[in-house]
Amino acid sequence: MTLPAQFAKRIGRMKASEIRELLKLLDQPGMLSFAGGIPDPALFPAEAFAEAFQSALTPEHQAQALQYSISEGYLPLRQWIAAHMAEMGVTCAPENVLITSGSQQALDYLGKLFLNPGDTALVGWPTYLGALAAFNAYEPRYDCLRPGDNQPPEAYAAAAEVAGGRVKFAYMSPDFANPTGVTMTRAERVAALQMAEALGAAVIEDGAYQALRFDGESVPPMLALEQEQKGGDLDACRTIYCGTFSKTLSPGLRVGWVVAATPVIQQLVLMKQAADLHSATINQIATHQVAARLFDDHVASLRAVYMRRRDAMLAALEAHMPEGVTWARPEGGMFIWLTLPEGISSATLLERALAQEQLAFVPGQAFYADGSGANTLRLSFSNSNETVIAEGMARLGRVLNSAL
Ligand code: PMP
Repeated sequence: MTLPAQFAKRIGRMKASEIRELLKLLDQPGMLSFAGGIPDPALFPAEAFAEAFQSALTPEHQAQALQYSISEGYLPLRQWIAAHMAEMGVTCAPENVLITSGSQQALDYLGKLFLNPGDTALVGWPTYLGALAAFNAYEPRYDCLRPGDNQPPEAYAAAAEVAGGRVKFAYMSPDFANPTGVTMTRAERVAALQMAEALGAAVIEDGAYQALRFDGESVPPMLALEQEQKGGDLDACRTIYCGTFSKTLSPGLRVGWVVAATPVIQQLVLMKQAADLHSATINQIATHQVAARLFDDHVASLRAVYMRRRDAMLAALEAHMPEGVTWARPEGGMFIWLTLPEGISSATLLERALAQEQLAFVPGQAFYADGSGANTLRLSFSNSNETVIAEGMARLGRVLNSAL
């Protein structure tokens, strides 16, 4: 095969991880996996979707549901999203909303919109692996943005210039981040907005887990905080909010959205047109029907279930983790992030866990743009019941004790 020689240079940055190979073992009987950050399928509102799809396919509605549609997305769904954003303190018109095929597509488009090769993207160390994967295709340089660190904006700008580009955006997931579970305080959000302002950079706010708060005080989205600072003028905002129905209703339907200033949305609509014309019409119609019918009640029941699972995992970690292993208590989302003693490799630990205990998790290194974080790992509590979580953490304790 001679074609790989013809592949574009950017392909060099798009690599499959070795972890993927290991995680292929997950289907083995008896395996307990805390690796995938996925919703529990038993909680999908399948009946409501069945009715919604059935109704969309009646003679009355099928001509619309099975037809091409506009790139911006199904208007009633965009109207629902505008009302949903208003509940979170963001005032926007349906014209400021673009429907995407999952928020992952939005991350790809935003990389395409902003990044020339060598430009700088500010991300957390660690950050969402899928964001790095999406941005990598546009050949950026990464720099680390830590909420609360005292690095002045000029230092980021100067380093970006040395690398031959500019700081184009800061990507963050301020609520129950993947992988850390950490939530940014209001002060940290304001400071990050100030930093972006000083750099003339955009803020990409990933709200994937925002609806899944179990306890504590909710903090307004960065876009809401910025819009308030700017007297309500969304078009003056540099924050681009990415939302998704994947963690609340269904990831398989691939329905997400972007809310941003009009010029940003207009440009993204052109990208959507060029890339896939529009997201699946019938999926948007069904998502709208189901969201309008039961979103709040459904999310309330998800929160209750996931909160019990978080609590079960925290209790089991307390019971089984050896000295020197630390973690934080997330107020929502799907993840608990563990830091192991220095020198312990979580990738090696995963090999042992799979072989000795039929246990899986995600080693943390893949979430670091600089390849550090070898002694960290991510556990997901969303897709296992309390009994499985207790057994899984006991297994993790045994593997760790044998490694330490
Ligand atoms: N952002 C974050 C932080 C995520 O964890 C995920 C899913 N793992 C996504 C975005 C993408 O989700 P989707 O494309 O299904 O909306």
